[in-house]
Amino acid sequence: MSGYAPPARLHFPDEGRLPWLAPLLDAYEIIDRGVHEGVGRAEGQGRTLACAKGCSACCRSHLTIPVYPLELMGLYWYCSERLTGDLRGRVAGQLGAHEEGQPCPFLVDGACAVHPMRPMACRQFNVFDRVCAEGEDAFHTRRGDVMTPPPRFADQAFDRMLPFYGITDKRARKEAIQTGRLHALARVLQGLDWAKLAARMGGGTAPDGDGAGSP
Ligand code: SF4
Ligand code: SF4
Repeated sequence: MSGYAPPARLHFPDEGRLPWLAPLLDAYEIIDRGVHEGVGRAEGQGRTLACAKGCSACCRSHLTIPVYPLELMGLYWYCSERLTGDLRGRVAGQLGAHEEGQPCPFLVDGACAVHPMRPMACRQFNVFDRVCAEGEDAFHTRRGDVMTPPPRFADQAFDRMLPFYGITDKRARKEAIQTGRLHALARVLQGLDWAKLAARMGGGTAPDGDGAGSP
């Protein structure tokens, strides 16, 4: 087995105050379990996970990372209420300066500043056998080296998040997952205007408002 740690569900005291947070953390735990199983299966077939701490070429080369509204809530909360000190200032500065089409603004010194709340797409992107070259998107250059997690985990994670979008009925949730209808909710992380979040963090000026806007 590689050093890829078995996932643990994260807990924050804010879960009592923020009812949307527990479903998101549950969903991330499910996704992480799927990744763990996918990596384990591939390792059983002789593959070696190339991803490791400090490796971040993917964060610079991927420019269309999908992020869902509940995930945006998590990013807004984490940045505005959990990040502190120098890292908070660095992230706020990058968010304030971010322009559409640029790489992810949460990458600081080669590490993800929002690692506990990184989107599902980031969590699921793992590559085997060879570290990505700078500028390489392994999904296009060597699809066979990109890990495919068992799809049931993503289905379960979406099922956990769907009530946040007003889809509570079990049959309706199943339909939303099977048809892929929920994917219409996704936005491109790098295409979003992060200025309001930067201002909320104290790192910029809010455009046309109070700086406390929601995602
Ligand atoms: S996807 Fe590629 S660049 Fe990203 S952590 Fe894995 S090996 Fe490194
Ligand atoms: S959110 Fe984190 S893991 Fe995802 S692209 Fe940005 S820096 Fe990389």
